[in-house]
Amino acid sequence: MKISFPVLMLLVLVCIFAAMPGFAENLSLKAMLLTGQNNHNWQLSSPILKTILEDAGIFTVDTVTTPPEGGDFSDFAPVFSDYDVIVLDYNGDHWPDATRAAFLDYVRSGGGVVIYHAADNAFPDWPAFNEIIGLGGWGNRTEAHGPYVYWEDGKLTRDMTPGPGGAHGRAHQFVIDHRDTEHPITRGLPEAWLHEEDELYHHLRGPAKNLSVLATAWSDPETGGTGNHEPILFTVAYGKGRMFQTALGHAGNENPPPALQCTGFIVTLQRGAEWAATGQVTQEVPEDFPTKDSLSLRPDFTRK
Ligand code: ZN
Repeated sequence: MKISFPVLMLLVLVCIFAAMPGFAENLSLKAMLLTGQNNHNWQLSSPILKTILEDAGIFTVDTVTTPPEGGDFSDFAPVFSDYDVIVLDYNGDHWPDATRAAFLDYVRSGGGVVIYHAADNAFPDWPAFNEIIGLGGWGNRTEAHGPYVYWEDGKLTRDMTPGPGGAHGRAHQFVIDHRDTEHPITRGLPEAWLHEEDELYHHLRGPAKNLSVLATAWSDPETGGTGNHEPILFTVAYGKGRMFQTALGHAGNENPPPALQCTGFIVTLQRGAEWAATGQVTQEVPEDFPTKDSLSLRPDFTRK
């Protein structure tokens, strides 16, 4: 077979690009950041989340903003299926039935979902959403939504004690303990790390089906906590889809929010989003990841 010169040059170029380190880190993944209502400062958090996701070097990020509370949702129909991962920074009004159905279709058929902080407060009366997120809080969640789940004696405990779902003590710095060190999201990272001041959610409850807890944090009664090791980073398999939830990242009025500057929050979000999108993590372990004894902050949310 005779190969023409232009075709030969093309083949050479393809080989050069394929051999380049970091070739896997192209902008091949499409992320939708869905926001627009929250009991938190989503106007502050969402641009930061976009910066964080883009800094991973593998995502293009489109921000989709819902109508405001009480607004007209009749035309709210984002095309979930155009994306590899949907990142929810949303806790607000219900979506139209067709939009909810499209979201479920998207996840069941293999889509990725990231639930960030108070997004696990959303939609308490939508059973399928609760199955996707695994555990949630507030919104009058009770034992009817499922057990409390926490880490005890080296395994997960499902506790059907009646009571409200979702609470936290006062914000403080705390240590995150990885419970699964072989999962693509946590593999290679320090197994315990100090997180910058944040809310430590406790008493989350939900269906907790197909739930894998990757990391917990001890909820200190001295700060208003439970004395339990509470789930902080976890995944759920739903149909062919993958959900990653980070309970971290409180964004209130403090600008910038301390919790969002934590390299541990940033890196686990980036890795969790990639895993939700593809089931794999290609990102390298950064040198500035926090350890059990030392904080690490990225004040402008990027690697620099
Ligand atoms: Zn919060």
